[in-house]
Amino acid sequence: MSYKNFPMVPRVVFGRGSFNQLNEILAPKRLNINAPFIYLIDDVFKGNEWLTSRISLSYDDRIIFISADEEPKTSQVDALVEDIILTTKERPSGIIGIGGGTLLDLAKAVSIMLTNEGETKDYQGWDLVKNPAIYHVGIPTISGTGAEVSRTTVLTGPEKKLGINSDYTPFDQVILDSELTKDVSKDQWFYTGMDCYIHCIESLSGTYLNAFSQSYGEKAFDLCKEIFLDDSLSEIESQEKLMMASWHGGMSIAYSQVGVAHAMSYGLAYLLGTKHGIGNCIVFDHLEEFYPEGVKLFKEMKAKHNIELPKGICADLSDEEFDIMINISLGLKPLWENVLGKKWEKTITPAKLKSLYKKM
Ligand code: NAD
Ligand code: ZN
Repeated sequence: MSYKNFPMVPRVVFGRGSFNQLNEILAPKRLNINAPFIYLIDDVFKGNEWLTSRISLSYDDRIIFISADEEPKTSQVDALVEDIILTTKERPSGIIGIGGGTLLDLAKAVSIMLTNEGETKDYQGWDLVKNPAIYHVGIPTISGTGAEVSRTTVLTGPEKKLGINSDYTPFDQVILDSELTKDVSKDQWFYTGMDCYIHCIESLSGTYLNAFSQSYGEKAFDLCKEIFLDDSLSEIESQEKLMMASWHGGMSIAYSQVGVAHAMSYGLAYLLGTKHGIGNCIVFDHLEEFYPEGVKLFKEMKAKHNIELPKGICADLSDEEFDIMINISLGLKPLWENVLGKKWEKTITPAKLKSLYKKM
C-alpha cells in the first residue's frame, strides 16, 4: 500500500478530573477474576495518595511502580513481561500506563509482548508484531511526547534505539486529565513541552509534509507559541493546552516524520543516556541552518523561562564514541529523507554530524 492505513486511538476522555472515571472505564474490560489489571506507574507517584487512592484494586490487580530515570529498554520489557506471566493466573485483562513518555512506552511494549513470542528486541522496527496486544490504556502525567497517541513505543535495545512501530501499538483508551501534570518541575515541563514544539517544526518543514500532517502540526505549533510565549494563560489553561498540543504534535508526525533534532538526539541517548526531551533541546539549539525560524523562537522561549541547557556534553568523547553516535543517527534514514529529500546523503556526511555534535 503506498498510503499508510494507520490506526488511531479509538477512545479518549478529556477533562480535568477525568482520571476519576478510570475504574468505571476498566470494569467492563475485566475478562474474569483471574485476569488482573496491571498498572505501570511512574515511581514519582509512589506514596502519592492523591493519585493512587483513586485506583481501586480488585482480585489480583497490581501496581508496579517504575522509575523514569532511564528511558525504556527492551531488556526491561522482557523482565516485566516475565514477571507478569509468572505472577498472574491468566493473561491480564489490561495494562494501564500512568506517567510520561517512558511509562506510556513501557505499557505499550508490555501489552504487545504479552501476546507475542520471543524477545522485545526482535520487534524493534516497522510492522513486525504478529498478534494484537492485550487491552492497554495510556494516562499521561506530563505533556509533550505524543506517546499517548502514536503508533510507536521507543525502546533502547542492545543494538539500537528504535520503536516498535505497529498497528497494535496505539492505546485502546487514553485518559487526558491535565490535573495529573500539575506537579511537573519547570525544567522538565520545558524539555518535554519542547519535544512537542520540535515535532511541529520538524514535521512542518519536512519533505514528507502533507495536508493531514500540516493541519495537526500547525495547530500544535500555535498552541506551543501560546503556552510558552503568552503570559495571559492561566496555569490550568496552559496545562490543558499543552496536553492537546502534545496530541496534535503526535498526530502530525504520525503521517510524516521527525527530523534532525530527533535523529541526532537518538545518538546522544544511545551513547550517553541523554533523555529525549532535554536531548532534543540540546541538539535543536544548534540547528539554525536547518530550522532558522524555529530555532530563533526556541531561543526566545528558552530565555523567557530561564532555561539553562547543559553545555559541553560531547567535549570529552573519543573518535570511536563520536562514530557510535553518528552511526545511530545516520541509520535513521526516513528522518533524514524527511529533512532533505532523497539525496540527503550528499549533505549529511559523518564529518558534518561530527562537527555538529562537537558544538554540543
Ligand atoms: P519521562 O516519562 O521520562 O518523565 C520525565 C520526568 O518527569 C521523570 O523524572 C518523571 O518521573 C517526571 N514526571 C512525570 N510526570 C510527572 C508529574 N506529574 N509530576 C512530577 N514529575 C513527573 O519523560 P517524557 O519526556 O514524557 O518521555 C520521554 C520518553 O518518551 C523517552 O523514552 C522517549 O523515547 C519517549 N517518546 C516516545 C514517543 C512515542 O511516540 N512513543 C515520542 C516521543 C518520545
Ligand atoms: Zn520526540
